[in-house]
Amino acid sequence: PFRYYGPELQGSTQSLEDAIARDFGVPYVLAVTSGTAALIVAMKALGIGYGDKVIVPANTFIATAGAVVCCNAVPVFCDVDDSLNLDPNDLERVYDEDVKAIIVVPILGNPVDLDPVLEFAKSKNIAVIEDMAQSCGVRYKGKYGGTIGDIGTFSFQMNKIITAGEGGAVATRDQKLFERAVRYHDQGLFRHKARYGIDSPDEQYAFAGQNYRMSDIAGAVLAEQWKKLPSILANMKKRHDSIQRALAAELPDIRFRRCPDPDGHIGSNLGIIFPSAEAAQTFNRALNAENITATVLYGGKPVYMNPQLFYQRTAEKDNFPFNYPFKNPVVYTENMCPRAVDLIPRTTFIPISPTLTDRDEADIIEGVIKVYKALQQTVSP
Ligand SMILES: *Cc1c(COP(=O)(O)O)cnc(C)c1O
Repeated sequence: PFRYYGPELQGSTQSLEDAIARDFGVPYVLAVTSGTAALIVAMKALGIGYGDKVIVPANTFIATAGAVVCCNAVPVFCDVDDSLNLDPNDLERVYDEDVKAIIVVPILGNPVDLDPVLEFAKSKNIAVIEDMAQSCGVRYKGKYGGTIGDIGTFSFQMNKIITAGEGGAVATRDQKLFERAVRYHDQGLFRHKARYGIDSPDEQYAFAGQNYRMSDIAGAVLAEQWKKLPSILANMKKRHDSIQRALAAELPDIRFRRCPDPDGHIGSNLGIIFPSAEAAQTFNRALNAENITATVLYGGKPVYMNPQLFYQRTAEKDNFPFNYPFKNPVVYTENMCPRAVDLIPRTTFIPISPTLTDRDEADIIEGVIKVYKALQQTVSP
């Protein structure tokens, strides 16, 4: 069950890595224990740490920002736009010379508008990390998310697109970054050099690392799960687009979350933006009563409102690194990303399962139309 055991490796984790590399068109993939581990490995590969800042979108799961803190760097928060993803126009506001990377997070299957982010990163000579935890299979302008920036990360935890309960992966086109990622995830070792044709067993570059190795049991489960990805994606996309079309036809003023690349959206969730948080809540309650799931994300709040972030608490002495004397001190305030504060609590997400039947699809359409029309009569927009 250990991926590096014995003269004849079982090779399950390796076959998962090879399948991801082949299907997503990226030369280097490393399986790790979780999406959080993948983020930490990615930042360690980039050499991010003490004294550095990393730009994180205000709308994401806490792991994205938490991983930055666990690398002893400090997250700074970029606002979102009506795609509910990072707004490239807000990057300049949060940038200063301590910033070493931007983490983009396609939230719930919707691609990030990457070109302006890549352009900005290039102009500042900083890295772009794609946190694909929620969006494995999302594409942007035909390319798979996670293979476009400097380094991409995936999660195979239970709530994600494919799963083995826990698991993650890192992908990159850069051999040096990959070598550092492998070393960090395996106590500074680089076993298997021959597999990649990387023949510099140059142990002078070894550094102390972690154990974030995927077990070959998880690897075996995921290698099978990976084969189902195309059908999972095709089913979700078909249902999502068909539900969205039906709703748009019947509800002319319904406002969907903006999608920067409709072809690349995987359709795992349908996002609807309401005029107010109150309207979104009323809609969700009524739809839940119809047995259809609809939720706002993360308690309706930006990620930095999580107390461990907002109060800048870490496991380190004196809450290091937040007390590090930055030239521009990092202060978090409730309204520092006003569009995230405004949009997150009034955007509702309806999950689209790959196992929906025609009957389920019709039920969702009927339920949303019924509740939406009733809401229009009670809450004036
Ligand atoms: C789930 C998630 C993670 C963390 O993945 P784990 O496998 O649970 O560690 C990171 N980023 C985002 C955006 C996530 O949704």
